[in-house]
Amino acid sequence: MKLHQLSVAEAITTLHSDANGLASTTAAARLTEFGANTIQHAPTASPVLRLLRSFTHFFALVLWLAVLLAFVADGLQPGQGMGLLGYAILGVILINGLFSFWQEYRADQAISALEKLLPKHVKVFRDGAMTEMAVAELVPGDVVALEEGDEIPADCRVIECFGLRSNEATVTGESAAKNKQATSSNEEDLMQSPNILLAGTTVLSGQAKAIVFATGMHTEFGKIAHLTQGVRQRPSPLQREIIRVSRWVAGLALALGVLFFIIGEAIGLSFWANFMFAIGIIVANVPEGLLPTVTLALAMATQRMAKRNALIRHLPSVETLGSTSVICTDKTGTLTQNRMTVRQVYVGNEFIDVAQTASRPLQAYQHLFEVANYCNELKLTRNHGEIQPWGDPMEIALMQFGKSMLGDQASPARVDEIPFDTDRKRQTTVHQSAEGLIVYVKGAPETVLPRCNQIQQDSDITPIATDSQQQLTEAQEQMAGKGLRVLACAYRRIQPGYARETLEQELILVGLIGLEDPPRPEVPAALEKCRQAGIRTIMVTGDHPHTALAIAREIGLVRTVTPVVITGAQLRRFSPTELQLALDAEEIIFARVGADQKLRIVTALQAKKEVVAVTGDGVNDAPALKKADIGIAMGVSGTDVAKEAADMILLDDNFASIVSAIEEGRAVFDNIRKFLTYILTSNVPEIIPYLAFVLFKIPLPLTIIQILAVDLGTDMLPALALGAEPPHPSVMQRPPRPRQEPLLRWSLLSRAYLFLGIMEAIAAMSAFFYVLNQGGWNYGDSLATTTPLYLQATAACLGAIIVMQVANVFLCRDERESFMRFGLFSNHLIVAGIAVEIGLLLFIMYTPWGNQLFGTAPLSMDVWWFIAPFAFGMLVLEESRKAWARRSR
Ligand code: ADP
Ligand code: MG
Repeated sequence: MKLHQLSVAEAITTLHSDANGLASTTAAARLTEFGANTIQHAPTASPVLRLLRSFTHFFALVLWLAVLLAFVADGLQPGQGMGLLGYAILGVILINGLFSFWQEYRADQAISALEKLLPKHVKVFRDGAMTEMAVAELVPGDVVALEEGDEIPADCRVIECFGLRSNEATVTGESAAKNKQATSSNEEDLMQSPNILLAGTTVLSGQAKAIVFATGMHTEFGKIAHLTQGVRQRPSPLQREIIRVSRWVAGLALALGVLFFIIGEAIGLSFWANFMFAIGIIVANVPEGLLPTVTLALAMATQRMAKRNALIRHLPSVETLGSTSVICTDKTGTLTQNRMTVRQVYVGNEFIDVAQTASRPLQAYQHLFEVANYCNELKLTRNHGEIQPWGDPMEIALMQFGKSMLGDQASPARVDEIPFDTDRKRQTTVHQSAEGLIVYVKGAPETVLPRCNQIQQDSDITPIATDSQQQLTEAQEQMAGKGLRVLACAYRRIQPGYARETLEQELILVGLIGLEDPPRPEVPAALEKCRQAGIRTIMVTGDHPHTALAIAREIGLVRTVTPVVITGAQLRRFSPTELQLALDAEEIIFARVGADQKLRIVTALQAKKEVVAVTGDGVNDAPALKKADIGIAMGVSGTDVAKEAADMILLDDNFASIVSAIEEGRAVFDNIRKFLTYILTSNVPEIIPYLAFVLFKIPLPLTIIQILAVDLGTDMLPALALGAEPPHPSVMQRPPRPRQEPLLRWSLLSRAYLFLGIMEAIAAMSAFFYVLNQGGWNYGDSLATTTPLYLQATAACLGAIIVMQVANVFLCRDERESFMRFGLFSNHLIVAGIAVEIGLLLFIMYTPWGNQLFGTAPLSMDVWWFIAPFAFGMLVLEESRKAWARRSR
């Protein structure tokens, strides 16, 4: 017989295990025998292959073609320097390929490091106690505890369960929920059996204990894993835009090359020199390195976000975060600490502060404390040898309160339960006590009160009259008004053979319990940041409207006298249009909403063209998390299902971390614009010299090899450094970027080409003529390209561009803020980039190799003194423009 056809006891025996789990020694032995419980992914492209790829992509092929043309030309017409150009372009391909490869490698590393930050855990019974451990350590025979929202860690046979339902779409493709049970099955096919839980599927509701029979690649999921592997992530919108921009710039380069060639032909330049120049222009302007640099900038942003407790699951989310305009956030645990303490109880028409309970005769309300103590989903785990309750902090607080009132008592065995969920808002457990079966219920008063027909007052139990119902509602509102979370507690006795549907009927209400959950201290500042950044924050909570409002006021989420508070019941009656209109309110809170309603809120906000981030933790939140532009799951309290549906995971569940992530997301976009400005600027002083050469018949001020030295040498590291700038405070002081806004705005292009670029070109040309003039050259004189004077003059032109670019790095750090506000050394990469830039400059100018390779000659000090004022002038002019731009806003 197969495993699923056996009884529970037989199944456990065949797996050589025990209902209380394995001993850790046995487990260790099995781990070596059966291996770790991990799915081995087919290796992604080997490094060698990827290295090859970085030499054979589209732009690289263009470059190879240029090499070929150069060498062919050299063969046909030796002595024109075509061979040297060919080698130079080969060098470009090499440097670029290696650089791209390195960048992609770094980006991959950054992303795979993220996955390790959040290892999957499972609750396992070992040595008779429950412990949490990494999923990878699971072995056949292990007994695991599963609950709503858990991902099933290995193929298991159910040995005990309450209300268990699972979703197996990931393995069988069938999306309908399946009911599960522990009893043996007659099913032929193991995968169809209701007592089998398959790895990779999820628990939709209920609780279970199950025994593992297959792990890792032996699971059904492992067997099909190779089918789902190898799906490459699609490039993000930003990466696509970069590809578009690159192609656009490449097209421009091509057009320029052809245009210059035609001009050259028209004015009768030598064919080969002309041809060589056209190739050079194209090579210099093709933006080969743009995409890997952007990818690396994104990946580095995810690392910075992770340091600030936000884990990005998909690269595109980095940019979406930057344009987030609304955050819909949970209250409990996200805005508050989820560190609950019982503050007040309401029994027999009376409020009693917990501090005073000791002096009060409360024995009559024994059942209240029993509900607090026993009605929960807590599990006992061993943590460093100590047995501790594990689960919802609210339930832990209730249990501690119950225990303190009851003293040490043996807990009655639990025989059944109906778990809590956000739609029911209550939980019910059934226990076998000495006096028979007893039902305990706790939950939101609105959902518990209607199911009670009696109420306890001291030791009397009387039918609930309308006025006592009124009093209870008032009591709840009074407690909630202080920001307390209020739970109603009820019980009843039942007979064996009860019908499960009737468990929550004819209950006896014992009292209300008010719990305090202090706000997180970082939240008010984070909310203020959002306000300044033009981001709306909407609280969406399952809690009572009064509790929600009290907390919202405390943290500064609500400041007006009359915020709009919409309850789930009201929301149900709203049409989509009404909801959209309601969302226009300045301050708005959703209270007592169910998880399905979160989806409606997200949809309505998206219909209003908002970019919506939404938080969630439960199974029911998954649709809203998927629908939102940024779904955010809780790392600590969130279920596996929610994490799987999310784009981002908060490692600390903290609202403030969302705001940090948005800040980083905005910064990335800014950074990409910074380095684009930087590299576009130097194109101008590279092209103007050639224009002057053809238009005014002067000696060529800047050779092709020298252009390459800037674009692929000195510019590279500073550009990368600009891509890695930490967020500047100003990024959170302006409204969110519209998602459709292009990367290359007119303001960016005009600043780079028409302002900064022109200044650099003026400096470069002036330096060129300064040296020529000093050397006694007059306009119209011919000058051989081998004379020391010519070599020095081009060196001066190149030197000026590099010096101007050193100043430009600082200017590019912000479009509007003065560079002085940043601190010269605040970004170490910029310092390093400039150091390398200057090192390269010295190499090119003052070493025989550099002179030979780049066609330069050593410059005397006075040339640098001549160039310096231009750099200084650019600083002054650009700073003045910034000051003017700041004022005119
Ligand atoms: P939140 O949005 O604050 O996380 P929930 O949806 O978790 O709210 O809870 C909604 C309401 O359900 C709470 O106000 C409380 O009355 C009730 N509730 C929450 N957790 C439990 C639980 N474990 N057992 C019973 N009732 C609960
Ligand atoms: Mg909750």
